[in-house]
Amino acid sequence: MANGSFKKQGSAKGGANPSARLLVAGWIGSMVLVALLTVMLTYEFSDEDTGAGDAGKPEAGQVAQSGQDDDGVVESSPDTQIEDSGADEQVAANAPDEPEQPAEPQFMPNLKFAGRAGIVQLAASSLPPSDTVAEWCRTLAERVNGVASSDCMSGAFADSGHKSVNGRPLIVRQIEPTSRPGAGRVLLIAATHGDELSSVGTVFSGMNMIDENGTDYQWRVAPVMNPDGLFHEPPTRVNANGVDLNRNLPTAGWAKESRDYWRRVGFEKRRFPGESAGSEPENQWLAAQIKEFKPNVIISMHAPYGVLDYDGDFPAPQKMGSLNLHRLGVYPGSLGNFASRMQGIPVITVELDDADEPPSDGEIEQMFTDLNGWLDRYFRSVRQASADGGNAASDAG
Ligand SMILES: [Zn+2]
Repeated sequence: MANGSFKKQGSAKGGANPSARLLVAGWIGSMVLVALLTVMLTYEFSDEDTGAGDAGKPEAGQVAQSGQDDDGVVESSPDTQIEDSGADEQVAANAPDEPEQPAEPQFMPNLKFAGRAGIVQLAASSLPPSDTVAEWCRTLAERVNGVASSDCMSGAFADSGHKSVNGRPLIVRQIEPTSRPGAGRVLLIAATHGDELSSVGTVFSGMNMIDENGTDYQWRVAPVMNPDGLFHEPPTRVNANGVDLNRNLPTAGWAKESRDYWRRVGFEKRRFPGESAGSEPENQWLAAQIKEFKPNVIISMHAPYGVLDYDGDFPAPQKMGSLNLHRLGVYPGSLGNFASRMQGIPVITVELDDADEPPSDGEIEQMFTDLNGWLDRYFRSVRQASADGGNAASDAG
C-alpha cells in the first residue's frame, strides 16, 4: 500500500506543484528513517539473542564438566603470573564461547619428539604404543618390581628419539594438568643410577596416582634415565661407559672439582665422573629436557639412603612419607648442582629405603600426598614472587 501511494506520488512528480514535492520529500525521508530504525532494531535484538544463547549454553554444558572450570576462572586470574600473565585470563574469559578448543594442548608445537604418534596424540587417545615403547614396557615390567606392563602400554609413553650409549631408547611421558592449566611444570626422573630399581616402580605408582586423582601441574616423566645400567646383568650404578651420570653433568668448575671429588672417594669406579663434563648421551638428553621443558621443579628418585635431599632457595620439604629431610650436600656434576645452583630450579632428591623393592602402596601414596602439599606451597610462592618481581623490576627500571 505504501509503495502504491509512493508510486502515485512519484508519477505526479512531473507536475510543478512545490507543496506536492515537499510532501514527496517528507514521505521519502520518513520511509528511509523507518527502514534505518528497523535495520538497527533487528540487529540489536539478534545480537542480544545470540548473546543470551551463548551465556545459557555453557551453564548447562558445564554441569557435565564439573564445577572446576568455574573455580578455575576465579582462582586462576591471580594465579597465572608464572609465565604468561594475561594469556590465561583471556582463556578464562573466552572459555564460555569456545568450550572445546582450549582443551587442545598448547605446547604441542614446541615438542620435537620422534615417537611414532608423538606424546600428545598418544596421551590424548588410546592409540597403542609404538613398537619401541611396547618392547621397553615388556622388558621393564620383567626387570622391575612395581611396573605392570599394562601400566606403560596405555599409549601415554613416547620414544624421545634419543638413545643411551648402547642404543636403548630414552622414553618419556607427559601428563597434562587436569585443572588450572599452566600452574607449573614438574620434571620427574628415576633410575639415573641403574641399580636403583625401586625408583622406577615408585615413579610408576606415582603416575598411577596422578592418573586417578588428577593434577594441577604439567609433568614430564622419564622413568629410566640410565637404561644400560638398569638392564645390565647385574644392574649397575654407572652407564655403559662406566660413568656415574649424577657426577657428570656440566657444573661450574667441573674439570677440577670432579677430579678432586674422585680422588676423595678413592677412585671408586661406581662414582667415576667421566672424562669430560656432560660427555654422556643420557645427560645430554637430560640437559635438553631441562632446556626445552623448562621445569619449575625437578624430582629425582634414588635409593637406598632412606632420606629426602633438597637443593633450592624455597624452604625444603620436611618429609615425604616416612622419609625425612637430610641434606646430602652438592657434588660436582650432580643434578642438584646443575639444576638448582646453576639454573635456580629446585631439586628434590628422594632416596628410598631399598634399592630393589619399592615402598608399599600406602607409603607411596603418602609420599605423593606430601609432595603435592609442598608443590602447592612452592608454586603459590613462585606466583607471588613473580607478581612482586614484576613490581620490583619496574621499580628498578
Ligand atoms: Zn642414586
